[in-house]
Amino acid sequence: MNQNIVQLFRRSILLFLACSNFLLGYSCTEKNDLPKVQIMVSRVSLIPLPTTVTHGRYNIEIPKNVAISSSMTGIERDLLSETLSTIGVSSTSTDNMSAYIRVASDNTLKKEGYRITVEDDGCTIYYSTPEGRLWGVQTMRQILLQNTTTKDGRKSIPILLVEDSPKKEWRGFHLDLSRHMFTMSHIKKIVDVLSFYKINKLQLHLTDDQGWRIEIKQYPPLTEIGGWRKFDEYDHRLIEKAKTDESFKIDTRFIRGTDEYGGFYTQNELKELIAYATSRGIEVIPEIDMPGHFTSAISAYKDLSCLGTTGWGTEFSDPICAGKTENYPFLKSILKEVAELFPSKKFHLGGDEVEKTRWKACPHCQELIRKEGLNGVDGLQNYFIKEMADYVRSLGKEVMAWDDAFIEKEPQDLLYTYWRDWLSDQPGKITQAGYPIVFMEWGRFYLSATPSDIHLKSLYEFTFQPQFKGVVESNVIGFQACIWTEMIPNETKLGHHMFPALQAFSEVAWGSQRSWSSFQTRIPWHLKWLEQSGFATRKPDFIN
Ligand SMILES: [Zn+2]
Repeated sequence: MNQNIVQLFRRSILLFLACSNFLLGYSCTEKNDLPKVQIMVSRVSLIPLPTTVTHGRYNIEIPKNVAISSSMTGIERDLLSETLSTIGVSSTSTDNMSAYIRVASDNTLKKEGYRITVEDDGCTIYYSTPEGRLWGVQTMRQILLQNTTTKDGRKSIPILLVEDSPKKEWRGFHLDLSRHMFTMSHIKKIVDVLSFYKINKLQLHLTDDQGWRIEIKQYPPLTEIGGWRKFDEYDHRLIEKAKTDESFKIDTRFIRGTDEYGGFYTQNELKELIAYATSRGIEVIPEIDMPGHFTSAISAYKDLSCLGTTGWGTEFSDPICAGKTENYPFLKSILKEVAELFPSKKFHLGGDEVEKTRWKACPHCQELIRKEGLNGVDGLQNYFIKEMADYVRSLGKEVMAWDDAFIEKEPQDLLYTYWRDWLSDQPGKITQAGYPIVFMEWGRFYLSATPSDIHLKSLYEFTFQPQFKGVVESNVIGFQACIWTEMIPNETKLGHHMFPALQAFSEVAWGSQRSWSSFQTRIPWHLKWLEQSGFATRKPDFIN
């Protein structure tokens, strides 16, 4: 047994004793060397709420210079070091056993689980996987940031035992970059916050009717033409609203001339973002929405639609003509380029809101339906999605689609993002058929409507019953919050919609024991921290 293991064993025993003492309400240490400074007792407001948080009976002082374990990854050390610097404490890196913030492997912990002990001689993050260690670091940051400072400037944190692990593997955030864009540096700041709250998936909605946002090297017109639009109905509404409320002002960095909106992200920018997010525990999933919501591409390649038009049908925009199979290789080559750029094993193909009246009137579409013996335009939709999904799968990816792509009679093996809350039996049908879903129903998980305390509480207290009957919860792999940006044209407005809804969502997604009254007491510190970090937030009415 090497020395490290012996020390870890001793630490485990101490931890056990510490736990027992917490429960008995006695002093927290069996050691005679009482802490040098016993200051006041403070409590920390952690979000998402861990499985258990046990506060000790006193605080310990944070050293003036904190030694961080060199056994952590570079990014973990950087996150802790930046956090300490924010509170005016310097840091160094040193070997694990002599560090003040240490790590220790514990194979009994769940995949993303961690345990934190704050004891007289420092802090230990226990983990069984790199993910768990990172989430432990994020919780440790919340503890350090919520330090208490005495009048003479001494900083302290409470003696603490935190045990934690998530209930669901998928805790996602979806960002629409088509309707309105944000700078890469702001998207990275959002990634920082997502990681802070243990959100581990970021779905980027990169294409839609209103703009093509990802560079495709084979087809520059997709961004040169498809990346720009004349101000649309929403832009004009925003301009009108901005006359009396600045928060609706369109970010001028994305305006060209007097009446055009647009831009795109280069593949290098996206690569950088992916690396940035990956190191912070977040998988970035691309979405190329088809066959509907494709106007931006059709505006550059007119032959893609049934009649070579980019109009609007009864409900939705002119879709890709599914009957012109000669266009399939073009579409697949776009998917290939995107699939190669994103290391994620997931790929979202959209599949929502297809204007099928166009297909009904199109000779190409009708011909394919006849030739393949398809079940009308629904069958045609399934045929198209299957063709694209099979191709994406051949590139080694698992395919995702909106629940519109679930055809009950001929279900496809997709990971469905469920959103249409007016079809409340849909998640039951999909999960009973054995297919997995990511749950992001419109009513609560969409953060795009005017934010309110009523919505916040409703999101926070979400349960499947009674609205969503028959859901097989083991097939719900997780939850996703979703931002659509028609009326969110700048960073300030985005902040108003995201916070504190994202924190409420994080507790639903992480699977904490939820308590609305506890959340109300914990959220104020977090909003203050976000504001200090340069984010706009919405102050709920319950905060004075
Ligand atoms: Zn057609």
